[in-house]
Amino acid sequence: MKIDRELFRKFEKIVGEKYISDTEVARVCHAYDATKQRAMPDVVIRPYSAQEVSQILQLANERCIPVYPMGAASGMTGGAVPVHGGISLNMNRMNRIIEIDEANMISIVEPGVIVADFQNDVEKLGLFYPPDPASNEFSTMGGSVAECSGGLRGVKYGVTKDYVIALEVVLPTGEIISTGSKTLKSVTGYDLTKLFIGSEGTLGIFTKIVVKLIPLPEKIETMLALFKSIKNATDTVSSIIASKIIPRALEFIDEECIKAVGLYKDSSIVEGTKALLLIEVDGSPETVRRDALRIMNIFEDNKAFGVRKAETEEEVDDLWSVRRSISPALYAISKGKVSQDICVPRSNLTRMLNKISEIGKKYRVKIVNFGHAGDGNIHINILIDPSLPDEMWRAEAAVGDIFKETVNLGGTLSGEHGIGNTKSKYLSIEVKPRELKLMKDIKTLLDPNGILNPGKIFYNTA
Ligand SMILES: Cc1cc2nc3c(=O)[nH]c(=O)nc-3n(C[C@H](O)[C@H](O)[C@H](O)COP(=O)(O)OP(=O)(O)OC[C@H]3O[C@@H](n4cnc5c(N)ncnc54)[C@H](O)[C@@H]3O)c2cc1C
Repeated sequence: MKIDRELFRKFEKIVGEKYISDTEVARVCHAYDATKQRAMPDVVIRPYSAQEVSQILQLANERCIPVYPMGAASGMTGGAVPVHGGISLNMNRMNRIIEIDEANMISIVEPGVIVADFQNDVEKLGLFYPPDPASNEFSTMGGSVAECSGGLRGVKYGVTKDYVIALEVVLPTGEIISTGSKTLKSVTGYDLTKLFIGSEGTLGIFTKIVVKLIPLPEKIETMLALFKSIKNATDTVSSIIASKIIPRALEFIDEECIKAVGLYKDSSIVEGTKALLLIEVDGSPETVRRDALRIMNIFEDNKAFGVRKAETEEEVDDLWSVRRSISPALYAISKGKVSQDICVPRSNLTRMLNKISEIGKKYRVKIVNFGHAGDGNIHINILIDPSLPDEMWRAEAAVGDIFKETVNLGGTLSGEHGIGNTKSKYLSIEVKPRELKLMKDIKTLLDPNGILNPGKIFYNTA
């Protein structure tokens, strides 16, 4: 169904003339996300309140117009891309931090709040909101809840779903509901909050998010170590965990990634390095000192070299600069990349990395890996030239094999980026028919006309 002038005016009446547009510029700016796919919406609407969202959805539902919620469009699986046109619903005007309740250590925010802005505000009060996607300087709280974002600190502090305790949600039919409770415990009925977290904008639109906070750790220590074999690096990860230390970050970078960073910036990393670990521990000063010392000993036991421990803020920045440079470095050395974020039980990390290497050889594609080794979440990047159809085909085939091996090793297709439309055709590798049907039934129950983010999660559905 097209959005004709009469319908456009009805939407305009809800949000006001300034906050609706069908100009080429507005539509192009809402046509993509970090996957670089492109699909134009017919119109862009920027609501300011749950009531406005509700009226927009009621009208869209009556007329069967697709609605695509959008935060900062940093998603890695096409979640916000309006693949069937319709409305791009930009949530960025709803960007108020409504309350930071220090006594109860909870906060209420609107979905358009930028994650890092929120983190900075609570940290000024000695409080901590741990979920930290590497995109936190620009991604939104709404997008983060929709994708159940993880990040570097997941290994110790968990992911977004471990902090969201209640939601205000506008359903596709326009009803406004509240899930959960502001209390830290609640077992009153089904846990609807958890159902909506990670639903990728397909079940409802979040208009208020209630999160719990924890005390800000007193001290952080940052360390980096290089290894001559992947096994030495993954053994180090296992030994650290086995010695009951849970670092706040435990990042793994493979040889090809290190080489790419070396070409991109002066990283002073020694030739012949096969793997790098970047580790942070936090807590009280005594705990941090003790854990850092133990980790240094584990490095030695596993033949680490080039070990560095940051003594100043500048040195912390310097150690992290290698990790932060990976994405731009990979774009600099290849014309394109296919990225996946599988997660395996961390005891299967070495086996999975070996499988990925075999698959790369089988399909003659260059695969580089980095990731959150502490929780088994590997970011796989297949470097390609998108103008070569044969290379695209081989990359796709490699992805299929990687997903099958992931599931064989007890893993999951996505640790933190979601399914969107880029992974939907692989969903059935992991989710069995009965569970898939249940998921589709839930979607139909909440969104009978299929207007909210159609074309996502489930393959070949409008
Ligand atoms: C350089 C880079 C680094 C990244 N690092 C990480 C990382 O470390 N960890 C990680 O988990 N992810 C990471 N990501 C992925 C991405 O940033 C996260 O998924 C992020 O949470 C998306 O937020 P966004 O505001 O950009 O959402 P968008 O991309 O705009 O949308 C994502 C999904 O959320 C839905 N949505 C948005 N707002 C709402 C709302 N109010 N209600 C309901 N649905 C909504 C959209 O429809 C879409 O399906 C990274 C991305 C980039 C580009």
